[in-house]
This record gives sequence, structure tokens and C-alpha cells, in this order.
Amino acid sequence: LPAALLIHGPAGVGKQRLALWLAQLAVCTSPGLEGPCEQCQACRMARALEHPDIHWYFPLERPKGASGDRLVDALETARNEALTALREQPLRAVAGDELRGLYLATVRNVRQRAHMQASMADGPVFIIGDADLLVTQEASPEAANALLKLLEEPPGRARFVLTSSAPGRLLPTIRSRTVPLHVGPLEVEEVAEFLMEHLDVSPERAGWAARLSEGSPGRALGFLPDDDDLGTLDALRWKAWELLGAAVEGSVSGACALALGYAPAGARKLLDLFEFLEGWLRDVAAVASGAPERVVNHDAQDRLGKLVGRASLRAANVPLAFAAVERAREAASGNVNPQLIVTSLVRELGAVLSPTPAIRAAGAAPAGAARR
Ligand SMILES: [Zn+2]
Repeated sequence: LPAALLIHGPAGVGKQRLALWLAQLAVCTSPGLEGPCEQCQACRMARALEHPDIHWYFPLERPKGASGDRLVDALETARNEALTALREQPLRAVAGDELRGLYLATVRNVRQRAHMQASMADGPVFIIGDADLLVTQEASPEAANALLKLLEEPPGRARFVLTSSAPGRLLPTIRSRTVPLHVGPLEVEEVAEFLMEHLDVSPERAGWAARLSEGSPGRALGFLPDDDDLGTLDALRWKAWELLGAAVEGSVSGACALALGYAPAGARKLLDLFEFLEGWLRDVAAVASGAPERVVNHDAQDRLGKLVGRASLRAANVPLAFAAVERAREAASGNVNPQLIVTSLVRELGAVLSPTPAIRAAGAAPAGAARR
């Protein structure tokens, strides 16, 4: 195991799970060719997330009202609470939660521990999940630089395993200090089997969620319902569909009415919605170019077919729609009012996807009028 490894690949595919397995392998007292022995005390403790030399860090919400050393302590308390929850329920859906981060105080905690003696193993193993979420809210590269120092000169026999589904957002210097390992999406059948093995779901439901998951068990979990509601990702997917529908319909009042359903602040929450919108746009292109079997939203082929037929959508216009989504994404990253972003996006999408007067309601302003 190199001193600093970077596991990257799609969100929810199991990168942190793999990192935990590697850490278990590193501390196992009698590892075999297939991996850790699963029998020794070190293996049992690692599997229970209780090994004293395996330190798992992941983004957390910033505790309120704490700074300096008290923030370090508050984050450590929050991390221990999260670990307790993970021991009870190790399966989590991918959560697009823009409020979580890894902070300078987190890295200070890692640094302190990295300089301490290992308790049982040769050296400690540090897992830093979603490492690209370093300093997202601190507006300074300090945390990333502090981590960089640790990666450059790991104290003693400390090892680091970073994971990221957006490695492009890591500092280039951090990327260059780590050995990359790509984890690709799984086969649909593998995801379905995973769901059936770990959850009480029928083969039909498992297959349905697996086909929507794009090869990621963590995403598949997000499509399965909590109680009677839609799964969180499924709800987001239909919200994106609604947005596309309003765009194609082309009515100004419809766009405004839809936009008013969004909160007036917190634009970053739109980023996940836009990913689903792009999924629908890809599907529109697939259906419009005569390849309906290629759609990701496999349970919506009928709706897609009707939408494409009714509004005579053309695949050639879809790239322009992607550009509109990209502009909306930039606005969301810059924290523009979400209602404005949605109004503008719906109208721009309508203008490029469905420019024919028969579909566009009379009196629609020309494209650009809704731009800020
Ligand atoms: Zn073992």
C-alpha cells in the first residue's frame, strides 16, 4: 500500500468501503492472498469500525458556535456520533449535501493523531472520504495545504487513503502526491444483487433501482423509498422532469409558477437537480435520435416518447440545452437566487429545445430577455 492513495470513481460506488477494506488488510495480523483473514482480533475490530489505528474521516456539517480548539473537539464529537450511526446502519445513500465539509480543524486532528504511536498495527491508516470537500466553506486553501504537508512527509509509518468522486476539484499538488486508483461503475446485475442481499426488496424493485443507479449501489439506495415516500434521488429526478416539462411547454407564467415553488435561497442545492436534468436531456436525445433503448430513465420511455413527439424535439438541439444547464450551474455555484435561476433556465431551455411558435405560447419573450 503506498503512503498516499487516491481512490476515485462515481459517487456511491463503494470507494470508502474499499478504503476500509484496504485499511483492514493493512492491520490484519495474518493476511492471505485473497485479503484480510477476517478471523484475527485486528480484522474483527476493523470490521466493527473500532480498530484504534484506523481513522476514518468524512465531511461533516460545521458545528455551530465553535472555533479554534473547541471546533476541533466539536468536530471529533460529531465524527464519533456519525461513526456510531454507521455501525448500526452501514448502508447510506448518496447524499448531495452541500453543507458538509472537511475543515482545517479536521486536518489538525488528523495531524495530531498521525504523530502519535500506533496502538496495535505498524502504523495508523487514515481514510479521508470525499477529500474534494476540503475547505469548500473556508475560502482559504489552508486545510488542503495542511493535508498536503502530511502527504508529502507522512510521520512514521502513517498511511493515507483519500477518496473522491470529483478528483478534478482536488488541489493539483494533492493529486500529484497520491497514487491514483480508479474504481469504475458496477454492472447492473451486481448492483441488483447487492440490494437484494442487504435490503428487504423484491427482485423487481432491486432491478428497477439498479438500472437507474448508473452502476453505483449508493445511488441505487437513493431511489428506494423511505417508508411510503419516493426515495430522495427519485424525488429529485421527477422534480427535474417537471422542470423539463415546463420548459417545453414554453409558457412564461408556467415558468414563474414553477420557480416560485423553489426556496428563495440556498442555490447550491440545485446542483444535484441539474445532474438529473442532464440525465433527462441525454434521454431526450436518445429518443429523438431513434435509440429509446439507451435511456437511463428506463421506466419513463413512454413519457419521453410523448414529450419528444408532442414538441417535435430534435436531438441536434440538446447540446444547446446542456450549455443552458451549465450556465445555471455557474449561477447556482455563485449563490444567485434559486427562483431566478430556475425561471431563467426554464425559458432558455424552452427557447433552444422547442423554438416552434405552435408550441411556444404567444407572447413569449425572446431568448435572453430572462437572463440576469
Ligand atoms: Zn485478520
